Amino acid sequence: MENVIIVRYCEIHLKGNNRGFFERVFVENMEKALKGLKHEIRKQSGRYVIEGFNSQNTDLMVGKLKNVFGVHTLSVAMKVNSSLDEIFEAVKLVAPLSGTFKVDTHRADKKFPLNSMQINAEIGGRLLDLNNALTVDVHTPQSIIGIDLRENGTSLVFGNLINGVGGMPVGTAGKGMLLISGGIDSPVAGYMMAKRGMKLECIHFHSYPYTNMQAREKVEELAKVLAEYSCGTVLHVVKVTHIQEEIHKKCNGDYMVTLLRRFMMRIAERLAKKCGAQCLITGESLGQVASQTIEGMTSSGSVVENLPILRPLCGFDKNEIIARSRAMGAYDISIRPYEDCCTVFLPRHPVIHPKMADVLEEESKLDVQALLDEAFSTLETIKI
Ligand code: ATP
Ligand code: MG
Repeated sequence: MENVIIVRYCEIHLKGNNRGFFERVFVENMEKALKGLKHEIRKQSGRYVIEGFNSQNTDLMVGKLKNVFGVHTLSVAMKVNSSLDEIFEAVKLVAPLSGTFKVDTHRADKKFPLNSMQINAEIGGRLLDLNNALTVDVHTPQSIIGIDLRENGTSLVFGNLINGVGGMPVGTAGKGMLLISGGIDSPVAGYMMAKRGMKLECIHFHSYPYTNMQAREKVEELAKVLAEYSCGTVLHVVKVTHIQEEIHKKCNGDYMVTLLRRFMMRIAERLAKKCGAQCLITGESLGQVASQTIEGMTSSGSVVENLPILRPLCGFDKNEIIARSRAMGAYDISIRPYEDCCTVFLPRHPVIHPKMADVLEEESKLDVQALLDEAFSTLETIKI
C-alpha cells in the first residue's frame, strides 16, 4: 500500500480553448511548490495524482499543495491493487469510527467484475459488519469514502477532502506591480490578485534614515509570505526621503500624504512599464483612513497615465481584511510596530477631501521631474 495525493482543481475547466495553457501553468506551479521533494505528477481524468514520494513527506506536501492557487480540494489516498480484499484493507484505514457514511465508487476499469453500485454495496456492507457504530446515509453522510478503480489495475481509496485555497494558477492572468507597505492591507491585496492568477512584483518606498532597517526587513518578510502564494516575487525598494523633505519644506504640510501618494504612483507606474507589469495594485479600502477617500484616490490615481489601478480591498471592512491577513500568515509580521514612510512628517490635519486645483497648486511648488528621477535612481531590486 502506497500513499498518493489526489489534487482537484477549480475553474480551470471553464477556460475552453485555453485549457492546455492553464493546466501547464498549474502543473509548473505545483512542481515549484514541491521542489526538492521526490514525486511524480500525473494527470488522470480531470484531476492530478501525485505519486512516487516518501510517505513521511505526505503532510508536508499536502501543506504546500494546499496553498497553490487553482487547487480546489486534495485527498491523501491509499493506492492498492484493484481487488475487493485489498480495497477493503485500505477502506478500514480511512473509515470513520462512528456516524453516518457512504461509499462513492468511480470505475474507470470497466473490466472489473462488479459495477460501481455493487462495489459500494459490497464495501459498505463489510464496513457495517465490522463496526456497528456506523450507519449508511447516501444523501447527507458525515463521511464519504471514495474508491477510484483506475484502468491500470490499481485503485485509490480516500476519506474526507482537504480544502485548497482555490483561485486560478499564478501566471495565467498577467503581471501586476503591488505597492507594498509594512501594513496589514497591501500584502492581502497582493494575495487576492495572485489568487486570480496574477504574477506580482512589489515596490516599497522608505524614508531612511527616518524609517529604520527593521521596517525594511519587515517588508522583505511580508514579500516572502506573499511569494509562497505568488510563486516567487521581486521586491523593488525606492527611497523617497528627499521628496518628503521637499514637501515638508515647500508645501502646505496638510498635503504631505496626498502629494507623496502621487509621487509613489508615478514611480510605480514607471517601474511597472520597465518590468512589463500591466497594472498597479494597492491595499486601499474606501474610507479607511484620511487618504483613502474617493477624492484622495482620484488625486493619486490621476497621475497614472495609462495603467489600470486595482484596489481589491476597496469594499472590505478592516476586520475582513484582518481575517484574510491571518489566514495567509502575514498578520503577525504586519503588526510589528515599525514606522512606515507615510508616518514621517505626518500632518496634524491631513486633507481628507483634496480638491484637484489645490493639489496641483501645492505640487507646483516642487520640481516634480527632478525629484522623480532622483528617487528612481535609488532603486534596489531584491529577488524573493
Ligand atoms: P497598508 O496596511 O497596506 O499599509 P494602510 O491602511 O496603512 O495600508 P495607507 O498607509 O493609506 O493605508 O496606504 C494605502 C496604500 O498605499 C497601501 O495599501 C499601499 O498599497 C500603498 N502604500 C502606502 N505606503 C507605502 C509604502 N511605504 N510603500 C509602498 N506602498 C505604500
Ligand atoms: Mg500603511
